[in-house]
Amino acid sequence: MVGLATPFGGVPAGLIAGVLAGAYRAWLGGAGAMAGVFGIGIALLSSILFHRLASQREGGYSLKQLVLLGSMVAASGVNALILPQPIMFTFLNEALVPLTIANISGIVILGTFLSRERLSANSEKWLRSVAFTDSLTGLSNRRAFLTALRGSFQDALKYNRPFSLLLIDCDNFKKVNDTYGHECGDKTLIHLARIFEAEIGQHGVVGRFGGEEFTMLLQHDNKANAILKADHIRKTVEDAALHTDEDIIHVTVSIGVTTWSPIFADAEDMLRSADRHLYKAKERGRNCVEPTITHHFISNNPFSSRSVDTPPSLE
Ligand code: GH3
Ligand code: MG
Ligand code: MG
Repeated sequence: MVGLATPFGGVPAGLIAGVLAGAYRAWLGGAGAMAGVFGIGIALLSSILFHRLASQREGGYSLKQLVLLGSMVAASGVNALILPQPIMFTFLNEALVPLTIANISGIVILGTFLSRERLSANSEKWLRSVAFTDSLTGLSNRRAFLTALRGSFQDALKYNRPFSLLLIDCDNFKKVNDTYGHECGDKTLIHLARIFEAEIGQHGVVGRFGGEEFTMLLQHDNKANAILKADHIRKTVEDAALHTDEDIIHVTVSIGVTTWSPIFADAEDMLRSADRHLYKAKERGRNCVEPTITHHFISNNPFSSRSVDTPPSLE
């Protein structure tokens, strides 16, 4: 156990196992107490050395590595040298070989079991992350985003805690593909993903909903703040340039914003509302946010960096 604790649990786990085993051996007492504690110390040190030198393969160790670890730990048998002489000879004659075999085979059997457990836990983790991540941008995929949206919707109902949903679509993205090629199109999507991530920080969820459409959850945002935030994002995208080998690419986005209120039946209802707003933004000529907000509010809001497009009817 002392030999396996560090390679599988790290140095602190090894130290805890070593100290506990050493203390127990000292408490048992007897003529071999000192040699026993010494042997545990050697086992611990060899396992730390192994941990430093051996490279793990996806969290597990190969059979060869485990045999090596077992042999290193079995070297703790040199503790016999500090046993009182009569006991030392009995130990060397009767116990050293079985103990060495037990140490090596124990480490190989338990180590193989632990390695397999590690590998299966890691592949499960990997599968889960693949199932919920967009492979191009690394953002949450549609499935993960919908789960988050439904969770926020339930929380909003339970605690009356509004949140906002942004549906962001890259304008005329087909032209980027047609002009610079699909690979540049992909780079543009990654470029947008990094901007959205930076904009949202730790305070929300951003996902790629599909194609050149992205989604964002803004937690605890009221409608006016959400619209201002959306316009800030729109402006950041407009100002950011993507430098490629061929050219400098500028893109813009249109954003539909919806803030939770009790009138929404479910998360999908909110999505439909955001989609209607996005459609309006496209109709208004793209590179804008729907709904809009009055200039009066913006001039009094320190968060705003520019005026949001405002139709004359709202002024
Ligand atoms: P609009 O402003 O109305 O949104 O125009 P648009 O050109 O952005 O929209 P449209 O739906 O006509 O075209 C979207 C394009 O996005 C078509 C599709 O080939 C491209 N696309 C979807 N997914 C990907 C992707 O993963 N990579 C690349 N490079 N292109 C993609
Ligand atoms: Mg588009
Ligand atoms: Mg689209």
